[in-house]
Amino acid sequence: MTKLSETVLEIDLGALEHNYHFLRAKLSPTTKFMGIVKAFGYGSDPLIIAKRLESLKVDALAVAYVSEGVYLRKAGIKLPILVLHPQLANFDLLMEHCLEPSIYSARVLRSFHQAALNAGQKEYPVHLKFNTGLNRLGFWENDVAHIAKELKGSEVLKIKGIFSHLAASEDAAEKVFTRGQIEGFKKIVKKVESALGLVEIKHLLNTSGILNYPEAQWDMVRSGIGLYGYGNDPIIDPLLKPVVSLKTIISQIHTIEPNESVGYNRAYRSEGYRTTATLPLGHADGIGRQYGNGRAWVIIQGKKAPIIGNVCMDMLMIDISGIDCKEGDEVIVFGKGQSAEAFAAYAHTISYELITGISSRVKRVYK
Ligand SMILES: *Cc1c(COP(=O)(O)O)cnc(C)c1O
Repeated sequence: MTKLSETVLEIDLGALEHNYHFLRAKLSPTTKFMGIVKAFGYGSDPLIIAKRLESLKVDALAVAYVSEGVYLRKAGIKLPILVLHPQLANFDLLMEHCLEPSIYSARVLRSFHQAALNAGQKEYPVHLKFNTGLNRLGFWENDVAHIAKELKGSEVLKIKGIFSHLAASEDAAEKVFTRGQIEGFKKIVKKVESALGLVEIKHLLNTSGILNYPEAQWDMVRSGIGLYGYGNDPIIDPLLKPVVSLKTIISQIHTIEPNESVGYNRAYRSEGYRTTATLPLGHADGIGRQYGNGRAWVIIQGKKAPIIGNVCMDMLMIDISGIDCKEGDEVIVFGKGQSAEAFAAYAHTISYELITGISSRVKRVYK
């Protein structure tokens, strides 16, 4: 690696490949694998990730919204792309780019059926989403009859998939609840297939589902966070590799006398002589104020330095007293050296929120 000259989010595609093979090995060879690249590829770069997943021969991709799928199509991604939460206003755009919608309610079904009919579609592939306990999006089991009624005699849509989403697959204390969701999904699959005929792809598991309930893998799994290097599990995490690392450099070093303050609102007060460093990274980059005032630590020369005072928009300050370092030296915020999971925990949040929140101002570099 050449010497850093600014704040970067380093993207390690070798790590992505490692994580993919790790997860793939937990599954039957015939189970399909859907890579989740929503939310800017979990904050990394959706196109670079999608291209690598395509070359690794994953079977499909998923995004949350139509615009995310359109971006990938325009850049030449050919894999099937499931849109998990399409909005009614974008159905024409969705079909224009051969994206597959998740159909999760009577309103969405009616509206998409009509839009596909108007567009002259035949057997347009859709996935029916069922609610088995997350209570977020999805039909209920007893909606199957009216789905069948809506689609009866119509060749406009093809039910390519049926799926549901687990609410607590990472949580060992919720095994009974999760097994209930798996049983519920089994019943729904039976009901749908007896009303509408066989469905090619039944899918339920996210990353923690793959790790904890592989018996429920059906025809395909949907993995996001595991591909990016986090397994929501202290036993699994060391076996995965972080895809993104947030790194920065020291802009300036100050020596602070006793009873001085650092930063806005004078939130940090020095008790003795301290050495502080200012970093070109702030809440506008995705490191929020909740990480300030001694709660989070960064790594410099292999040593931990606390973030002191209030995080500013474009900068933050750390206490480097006793650490042998100089202006221009590299600082690791998270990734290799300190996991995003561990850094996120300082602010009582999770790796997902931290990594998807790194703003577009931070330059993406590739390894
Ligand atoms: C985001 C998402 C996933 C991926 O979950 P991970 O925990 O990141 O593997 C899978 N399915 C649905 C419906 C999602 O919204």
